[in-house]
Amino acid sequence: MKQVLRVAVVGGDAAGMSAASKAKRTAPEAEITVFEQGEIVSYAACGLPYLISGIVPDVHDLIARTPEEFARQGITVRLRTEVIEIEPRLHRILVQNPDGQTERIAYDKLILATGAGPAPLSIPGTQLPGVFALRTIPDAQSIQNHISQRKPRNAVIVGGGYIGLEMAETFHHLRMNVTVIQRSSRLMSRTFDPEMSQLIREHLESRGVTVLTDTEVRLFEGTDQLKTVITADGQALPTEIAIVGVGARPNVELAKNAGIEIGPTGAIKVDNALRTSATDVYAAGDCTETRHLVSNQLVYIPLGTTANKQGRFAGENAAGGHAIFRGVVGTAVCKIIELTAARTGLTEDEALRLGFAAESSQIEAAAWAHYYGDPPNIHVRLTYDARTRKLLGAQLIGSEQAAKRVDVVAAALHASMTVDEFAEIDMSYAPPYAPVWDPLLIAANVARGK
Ligand code: NAP
Repeated sequence: MKQVLRVAVVGGDAAGMSAASKAKRTAPEAEITVFEQGEIVSYAACGLPYLISGIVPDVHDLIARTPEEFARQGITVRLRTEVIEIEPRLHRILVQNPDGQTERIAYDKLILATGAGPAPLSIPGTQLPGVFALRTIPDAQSIQNHISQRKPRNAVIVGGGYIGLEMAETFHHLRMNVTVIQRSSRLMSRTFDPEMSQLIREHLESRGVTVLTDTEVRLFEGTDQLKTVITADGQALPTEIAIVGVGARPNVELAKNAGIEIGPTGAIKVDNALRTSATDVYAAGDCTETRHLVSNQLVYIPLGTTANKQGRFAGENAAGGHAIFRGVVGTAVCKIIELTAARTGLTEDEALRLGFAAESSQIEAAAWAHYYGDPPNIHVRLTYDARTRKLLGAQLIGSEQAAKRVDVVAAALHASMTVDEFAEIDMSYAPPYAPVWDPLLIAANVARGK
């Protein structure tokens, strides 16, 4: 009798559920089981700031599919079930069921999609009610409850990265006085070059957000509630709510304890078929590292888009397929009040550190024809290698038209274009949508003229 393929998936978020769905489509007869330690699977973590702001009215709007819907697809989801050990040589996992009992379960293929957690901030007071991290739906619900009960007027954000600035927007939307505390000298220091970071700072300040750079939080003060945030340079900021967003850490303990190789970035090492160092064990999403297609370096860039793709590919391969995930170019976009900030590839800072002869052309141009209404502006910074002419990356900041334009550059990076080839791309044009020379092409022409 033919043995049914048993695929076990650890973690039920973007990567895990994409993997389970694709494995089922690839091998419909396979027995697919997802083990999720929480209460919810398949939700849009990137939507959490908009749930808190009320733009997304209901938490259920963020849930793509329920366990019952997966069950109809033939996928078993076991909630509140924690995988506590992997025995790769025996092809077994040890799980703890909701009743506390443990159970050993055999698999043929295992997919690790254990995600990431917030980087810790090791200072006194992080446990005080009023101090939150934001990664999960329960985190967002705790923040919502705190806001409805305490009606905070002042909010402090620790960390001027993606989560910090998206939450600055949320609290600004909720009419709170917002202060962002950033350790280094500029916002989004890991994402943008200084010239572009400055635009973000100016926008936040123009909307009344206070930005403190070159400082850290020393202490969250309060007895039964957060009352004051004390900074390293001695400021005491009265506040009723604080969000800590100082980076993400891959959840790798389970893999590490099983002897699965961890890569140089601290995340699980996988090959381009998403295989880990253990036979028949795959990994996908925020717990893994990947290759940067511009720098050819291994990188840890935990993003929802990558998690969905890697999950899909890992699921296909676990079910007998041969999908190849080549890597990423680090494309991301973020809405900061009325500003859209997008990037792909390498910044000039990053490229110089990696040894490229990086140069950038930076321009500001109207998003569409100047005579059609009142077009907003976009700042474009294209980075390229002055020796090879290879396009290395782009940063776009301005109106919402920046968001999808960055994808044109991402496609060019996947195609390893030079900046001169990029300047020849046949882009669409009509006055309501673009100027006859698109801002991207203007920046490429400037690079050509250098
Ligand atoms: P992040 O984007 O890496 O930003 C962390 C920020 O915190 C950095 O600006 C860092 O600045 C600062 N920081 C670190 N330690 C600090 C301290 N002790 N005090 C004050 N500031 C400190 O990380 P994140 O915002 O926590 O987001 C986590 C991950 O989620 C990101 O890596 C991103 O991939 C993902 N995400 C993406 C989106 C999106 O694509 N729209 C949205 C949300 C989350 P320095 O290092 O310069 O000091």
